[in-house]
Amino acid sequence: MFRSLHMKLVLIMVLLIVSLMTVVGSFLINSVASFYLNDFYSQMQEVFANEDLYYDITTPTEQETDGAEALQKVLTAYAGELGVDGRNRNYYILDGITGKYLAGSDPERGPYLEKTHNLLTALTRGEVGSQSDMTATYMDVAIPITRGEHNYIIYLYDNRLTVQDLNGQLVVLIIQSLVFGLVISVLLSFLLAKTMIGPIERLTAGARRVAEGDFSDKIEIDAKDEIGVLTSTFNDMARQLQETILETERERNKLDTLFLRMTDGVVAFSAEGAVIHANPAAQEMLGRTIGADDQYEDLFGDVAALSEVLAVHPPEYLEGERQTGGRILELFLAPFDQESLGGVLVLIHDVTTQRKTEEMRREFVANVSHELRTPLTNIRSYAETLSDNAGDIPPDMERNFLSVILGESDRMTHIVQDLLTLSRFDSGKSEMNLTRFSFEEAIRDLYHAVLLEAQRHGHTLTLEVPDQLPAIVADRERIVQVMMNVVSNAIKYTPDGGTIRITAGQTADRVWMEVDDNGIGIPPEDRSRIFERFYRVDKARSRESGGTGLGLSIAKEIVDRHGGSISLVEKEGPGLTIRIELLVEGPRHG
Ligand code: ADP
Repeated sequence: MFRSLHMKLVLIMVLLIVSLMTVVGSFLINSVASFYLNDFYSQMQEVFANEDLYYDITTPTEQETDGAEALQKVLTAYAGELGVDGRNRNYYILDGITGKYLAGSDPERGPYLEKTHNLLTALTRGEVGSQSDMTATYMDVAIPITRGEHNYIIYLYDNRLTVQDLNGQLVVLIIQSLVFGLVISVLLSFLLAKTMIGPIERLTAGARRVAEGDFSDKIEIDAKDEIGVLTSTFNDMARQLQETILETERERNKLDTLFLRMTDGVVAFSAEGAVIHANPAAQEMLGRTIGADDQYEDLFGDVAALSEVLAVHPPEYLEGERQTGGRILELFLAPFDQESLGGVLVLIHDVTTQRKTEEMRREFVANVSHELRTPLTNIRSYAETLSDNAGDIPPDMERNFLSVILGESDRMTHIVQDLLTLSRFDSGKSEMNLTRFSFEEAIRDLYHAVLLEAQRHGHTLTLEVPDQLPAIVADRERIVQVMMNVVSNAIKYTPDGGTIRITAGQTADRVWMEVDDNGIGIPPEDRSRIFERFYRVDKARSRESGGTGLGLSIAKEIVDRHGGSISLVEKEGPGLTIRIELLVEGPRHG
């Protein structure tokens, strides 16, 4: 019931009024009693200090028979000054020795007077007894006197009913004020509640809205007091909170985008092993969908146990590898946020291409060594034979040996030159010398250059080029090198007496040239590898004809760098057709 501030306020006000009235009331009641007591004694003192009275009560008249009666007369005469009313206050004349009642204003009670402290003081010690307790129900004064030869005690007794009456009235007054005060305090608390609790309630409602994530409304401030300051501080806080939340949201969106777009796969698990998040890359690499129902143990339990990963101390991590769907995946497993609940993060990196490249590089080095070793061995063995049998070898044979040595040296030179060309392409150091030249003319020049060689092999070499081929932008020397390589291959790999057709044309923004032969062709299983370095269908035949196995790979590098393409054309019948396409406007930049 007293939870609300309003009720607390009412309670405080009531307690305040009650305690205030109690303090004021008891103070008043006490003051009245004390005032009345003091007033009684000072009145008595004043009256008995009167010399006339003193004379009248101590001096007997002539032929006086009853002193008490005479005293009664005197005191009756002074009754007004003494405040004796016969009801609440009375006087009594007692015998000074025995204390026996002799006369007084209250003859009924006179004989039964109580022996109060003051009375005993006057009786036993002959002194004035004038002491009364505040809490007592009466107040009295006993004055011993001597009148003639007799001793008397004049005793005044007040039953304090007047004070009690007064106090009773005071209590009624205080209760009335209390009730009045309580009514006012309740009314005041309502007023206070309206001015104080209203803004607090508005603030509370605003705080609740903010807690529910609604930052739309600012709380109105209509006071400049502490609550006003609190409200404006709250508004500031809510604004800052909103900004912080927006900032966090933006950061999260950024992270989400990063997570979605990144090429590496990421899967996050809770400390219990449930999936928290898995990006599309991870699902694509693992070849399955990953949902909240999936567990760590099912996905990566074979790489490392969850407890094992959780026990790792960052920046350390565990590594693993997996092969799925023809891919090689490298896995990195690490715990995150170990201080709080945390979990495990698995990063998946596709290393298929990297591994293939490494494999190709190894193969390439092995091929290079092999290709160079063969001519070197030949040179060495012929040179050795010549040196061991110097002077004994017939000159014809000697010439023959020397020509083999020269031929093999040339082959080595070719291989090294081709390798250098490729290496320049690989390192991007090979600049292209782009010029605009006539594609048609280049083909015609090539045709004339190889015609003799073709004829030597009894081939029929034909050329079909339309008149209006556009001039193209390219590195002329290199493009001619490509054309030459392709036509030379056709001549080389076509048995003597074959037919070789060179055709050309234009499609949209490109020009093309095809070289078709009816030679030995390429078995279907080798077609995809023909542009690989050192790849040859028939090594012996290639070597015989001075080939290095690098010609077509160099040709492909050159055409690729021009933004064009070189490919095998599917065809019926024997032989091979190779097509080269180039952009009329040359390689596009950017
Ligand atoms: P090579 O120096 O051995 O000729 P290339 O790179 O020019 O090297 O060619 C690679 C391989 O492709 C050759 O060894 C050959 O087996 C095959 N090849 C190229 N052109 C033809 C063709 N016109 N007919 C049949 N096979 C060919």
